[in-house]
Amino acid sequence: MPGVAGKKYVYSFHEGDGKNKKLLGGKGANLCEMTQIGLNVPPGFVITTEACLAYLENPDKKLPPGLMDEVKMHIRALEKATGKQFGGRKNPLLVSVRSGSALSMPGMMDTILNLGLNSETLQGLIEQTGNERFAYDAWRRFIQLFGKIALGVPDEKFDEAFEEVKKEAGVAVDIGLDAEHMKKISERFLQIVEEETGKPFPEDVYQQLEIAIKAVFNSWMGKRAVDYRRQFNITPDMANGTAVNIVAMVFGNMGNDSATGVAFTRDPGTGENVLFGEYLTNAQGEDVVAGIRTPKPIAELANEMPQIYQQLLELRNKLEAHYREVQDFEFTIERGTLYCLQTRNGKMNATARVRTAVDMANEGLISRKEALLRVDPNLLEQLLFPRIDPNFKGAPLAVGLPASPGAASGHIVFDADRAEALGKAGEKVILVREETKPEDIHGFFAAQGILTSRGGKTSHAAVVARGMGKPCVAGAEGIFVDTKLRRAVIGDKVLHEGDYITIDGSTGRVYQGLVPTVEPTFTNELRTLLDWADEVARLQVRANADTPAAARRALEYGAKGIDLCRTERMFNAVERLPVVIDMILADTVEERQQALDKLLPMQRQDFIELFRVMSPWPVTIRLLDPPIHEFLPSEEELRAEIEHLQHLKATIEGVNNLYNSLRLLQAEDELRKQYPEPFDQHGADLVDKALLKKERMLRKIKELHEVNPMLGHRGVRLGLTYPEIYQMQLRAMLEAVAECLKDGVEVHPEIMVPQVCTARELEHVKAMLDAIEAEVEKKYDQQIEVKFGSMIEVVRACMRSDDLANVAEFFSFGTNDLTQATFSFSREDAENKFLPLYQQNNILHDNPFEVLDTLGVGKLMDITVTWGRRSRPDLKVGICGEHGGHPASIAFCHKIGLDYVSCSAPRVPVARLAAAHAALKDQ
Ligand code: PEP
Ligand code: MG
Repeated sequence: MPGVAGKKYVYSFHEGDGKNKKLLGGKGANLCEMTQIGLNVPPGFVITTEACLAYLENPDKKLPPGLMDEVKMHIRALEKATGKQFGGRKNPLLVSVRSGSALSMPGMMDTILNLGLNSETLQGLIEQTGNERFAYDAWRRFIQLFGKIALGVPDEKFDEAFEEVKKEAGVAVDIGLDAEHMKKISERFLQIVEEETGKPFPEDVYQQLEIAIKAVFNSWMGKRAVDYRRQFNITPDMANGTAVNIVAMVFGNMGNDSATGVAFTRDPGTGENVLFGEYLTNAQGEDVVAGIRTPKPIAELANEMPQIYQQLLELRNKLEAHYREVQDFEFTIERGTLYCLQTRNGKMNATARVRTAVDMANEGLISRKEALLRVDPNLLEQLLFPRIDPNFKGAPLAVGLPASPGAASGHIVFDADRAEALGKAGEKVILVREETKPEDIHGFFAAQGILTSRGGKTSHAAVVARGMGKPCVAGAEGIFVDTKLRRAVIGDKVLHEGDYITIDGSTGRVYQGLVPTVEPTFTNELRTLLDWADEVARLQVRANADTPAAARRALEYGAKGIDLCRTERMFNAVERLPVVIDMILADTVEERQQALDKLLPMQRQDFIELFRVMSPWPVTIRLLDPPIHEFLPSEEELRAEIEHLQHLKATIEGVNNLYNSLRLLQAEDELRKQYPEPFDQHGADLVDKALLKKERMLRKIKELHEVNPMLGHRGVRLGLTYPEIYQMQLRAMLEAVAECLKDGVEVHPEIMVPQVCTARELEHVKAMLDAIEAEVEKKYDQQIEVKFGSMIEVVRACMRSDDLANVAEFFSFGTNDLTQATFSFSREDAENKFLPLYQQNNILHDNPFEVLDTLGVGKLMDITVTWGRRSRPDLKVGICGEHGGHPASIAFCHKIGLDYVSCSAPRVPVARLAAAHAALKDQ
């Protein structure tokens, strides 16, 4: 029935439109929907947001005309439905009053419960429940909530009075208070209200209701709500005004035929299709929250109240059939009647989310498309790496960048050699360094995880750890790593080598000691979901993998090839590094060739293994990229080593000198027997040799020194100035192809050139490839097909992509370097220097090394693809920078027409799902 003014302001749950959140608020609309699909919701009604706006606009702060008449009419309907009476002495109807706008806004008003209580109805409640303590507790809660929210009485006044009574009673916690105490508290609360408002607490229940409705309306313009809307940019077209929900209270504590509980329609921990939850007999919701009594598993309800349990199962089916999603719902049983108070989509862990999505699609409840879209790709990380136990609450020692996901614990070690030695002895270790270099690689293999105090998410440590699927926290700048004293200092805490730490590469947190972790599970449901993803995705997903082990893992995770094999990683093995160093130290082409001749068979074998593992998928091999000084120790380290060797040399000379002086001591023969010659010539020569080599390395390091090595002698520039290196790599790769073909292994090799900025560079390398290919084909009497492509990681390459595409058959965006080049931000330093502040101040919304900067870097990519395909319409284009495993960046790659994305093996499942999302959202 409309109000006097003709406008309808109040809707019962039976009549409100469950979709009209703007008019009824989210909560109100939801309650209408629940009621109308046949759930037994406690009866109630909604006062619309329009009523709120009309009230707020009224200069005299009067409710719109006719509103209270409508309210009274709906209260009467509630009385009828419940058999109770509002303000009635015998069987009083109590209601809850809640705000609820179109968007959920935690800044709004709290809920008033038990409205309708007064000195009369209180007696009714005592009789109804037979529980005096409960009734007085409800009464004092109502006075406080109503006093605070509706009458503006400061909360502290109530708290102080409450504490006083507790003190007088000599009890420490609320549950120690009995009915008498609660009664006393209620009386004091009534006094407080009178003192603060100058009027007695309203006894008239309709007056209570009117004041409460106005208070809810006013809360829309309260400071908390206004601030909240401003903070989250909530505009009037998103939510305007609040609705008021008035619902009959039902009580689960009205005897042994009453209960209260919460349940999930499926197990939110495992996803299993069983009703899951807990309940308490003869209790109210508060008892569950307060932990006074331990709730019972829902299955027990089948014995205790079999009929109700059946109804609960029916309720569960109704909820799922309607919402088509796992529901988390609250229920109350009042004297044998089951009420559903609230339902919402259930929060689940990753395992349950994947399983329920796949199960629901298989049950026909949702489509496969919906199942795919229901799982956030980022969530999959939880299924692929060990995680810190979600119940663990300890504080971290330090926080760095989450550089490679997963949690790991181990003893601290400060150098790779020691990590290797201990790792081989079966110890769990965490390699802790200021930053890592390629020469630390053996330490990575041995360690459970890596922690660095410098460097960003594309630093060496981060990229290598990700490739191996090992946890890494990078750039934890609060940690001072003192390798000499073999300790790490964090504030006033000192950690020594051997101490136990735990790192969480998913959050960047570092903890002292052993923190419990939970193991990952790659379930069958996840496999199914990812197969569905591949069916709809347009982008193919490949992996960045440098070793057969990484390639195997990538395959297991569903990669369709390797788009980036960083060959420099193959140079880092312990037995190879000395040969690589010889190659670098070589002063002549012949000397260099000698070293390369030793490397060739090793590299060929690597390629053979990689091709075999990946067959028949394509493998893209990138020629050597980093500046070669990266294979040498740092100048500082080398100087320290030379100094030690010089001391050792002086000591040897001194000791030999002493020995030769024995003659003067007269007892020469006797002493010579006692002390045989301490150092023979051989030992001294060894020190000399080592010293010479180290001094030569130092000279070379100085020679190779560049102010800006990342922009220096690296990539194709290195390949053109020392062509022997690329020639060796090309030969190793082509011979590996020939060997595989000879054995009947299908291979699709691709060669990729890094750091290219002009097509002429590509032409030079292509000429090398063609010449060696002809030689190898002749030697093996085999026809070899190799695709030739360019990385795109330099701005000029983007601008000249049409020219590059005349030579290159494919492009692969190296967005780590391209981001660095586009922003002129060092990828090693930016993330822990100024980027955090840039993000905090919203100068940059995201870290561009993590989230592809679509507006700048992305624009360049878009142009590159368009221009490149103008020259070569079938140009294949991919991405192998770290962004290739990032869902939002993958969506962008889909949009600009890339053919594939490539990422470290453990991110492959994330990328497969993200590629499917991109395609589905594009439909
Ligand atoms: C890149 O620059 O994005 C890339 C893949 O190469 P790297 O990280 O090895 O420099
Ligand atoms: Mg690069």
